[in-house]
Amino acid sequence: MKRPGLNYQSLEDQVQKIISDVATKGDAAVRKYSKAFDGYSADKLEVTKEEIETAGAEVSPALKKAIQEAQRNIQTFHEKQVFRGETIETSAGVRCWQKQIPICSVGLYIPGGSAPLLSTALMLGIPAKIAGCREIILCTPPDSQGRVSPAILYIAGMLGMDRVFRVGGVQAIAAMAHGTETIPPVNKIFGPGNQYVTMAKQIVSRDTVAIDLPAGPSELAVVADSAANPAYIASDLLSQAEHGPDSQVLLLTDSITLIDGVKREIQVQLEGLPRKKIASESLENSKMILLKNQEEIMAFTNAYAPEHLIIVTENYAELAEQVINAGSVFLGPYTPESAGDYASGTNHTLPTNGWAHSYSGLNMESFTKKLTFQEISKDGLANIGESIMILAEAEQLQAHSAAVSIRLKKGNND
Ligand SMILES: [Zn+2]
Repeated sequence: MKRPGLNYQSLEDQVQKIISDVATKGDAAVRKYSKAFDGYSADKLEVTKEEIETAGAEVSPALKKAIQEAQRNIQTFHEKQVFRGETIETSAGVRCWQKQIPICSVGLYIPGGSAPLLSTALMLGIPAKIAGCREIILCTPPDSQGRVSPAILYIAGMLGMDRVFRVGGVQAIAAMAHGTETIPPVNKIFGPGNQYVTMAKQIVSRDTVAIDLPAGPSELAVVADSAANPAYIASDLLSQAEHGPDSQVLLLTDSITLIDGVKREIQVQLEGLPRKKIASESLENSKMILLKNQEEIMAFTNAYAPEHLIIVTENYAELAEQVINAGSVFLGPYTPESAGDYASGTNHTLPTNGWAHSYSGLNMESFTKKLTFQEISKDGLANIGESIMILAEAEQLQAHSAAVSIRLKKGNND
């Protein structure tokens, strides 16, 4: 169950140096590293309002329409998660409630370069906007001409993000954590990235800023039985394998015939893929595992805690009930994992590397905090005061006890 390619130890010094440089030298360091890693050192790190407004002209109508449909579904799904707490009277006269407050400023990191992840701009930007974060900034690496993906700029404009910076990599994470002359520091950083970005997020999260999730290479587990279509399964495994050479995909089944069928289909479908090399490398890390029965399959699945889990068995609804550790679950033959990556509405930022044992994927809570409030009447305090005092004294915290007794003393503030 160990994931491949997770030895980040050697990166740490390298990444720490860039972060320290950006923290002390600001924009100059950001430019230096952008030049070194992206081949472009922008005079103007910030993308102008005009660039954002005109970006739409370079996005095809078909892509715009697809973006808008995805936006609608993601918006609908996340809006329903907005927390509306009620006031609870825990004892007579003791009223307690929770209030959800947006995190003030958030920084969204959107990988760019050869494959700009425009879907990530939607997955991070929409909940941030619904939450009501006061400042939403976006960092994305430019190409060597300094150009930022028009589709990402179009989305930034559509969602009304406040500021966009043409900065990527470790220097972007460092800038959003520590702030520079141009880039403001934020309270929380979101977004995926390569191992350098991931390491940078880990380092800044220790003492400077909150981050979304411990993120690692992408994963998919498919649970299937002999009735499943091998061609569909092969397409799902390849769709996840093409994310990166360190992605891992698993097929868990009790049917050896299915394994043979999927192997054949993978060979056929792999041939036609532009990212064949990446997918092949990732398949090296991947496994098809024959287990005795569904009980074993579900035990393995829950122990592995995959980021994405597809269940295509005849009784998938029944097995779905048994899932306790997974980031996002896809049920039945017509629910490919790509649907959740792009357009069905759920978030695609999910826990990897077994973190699904204890973490949820991104949701509205990730962009908000819950504050608790309470208001107690004099009678209410009389009702619970005795217990507070006894508990405080049991901990030998006399002043705590006194804060109650002084209020309940006869003749005081009547
Ligand atoms: Zn995917």
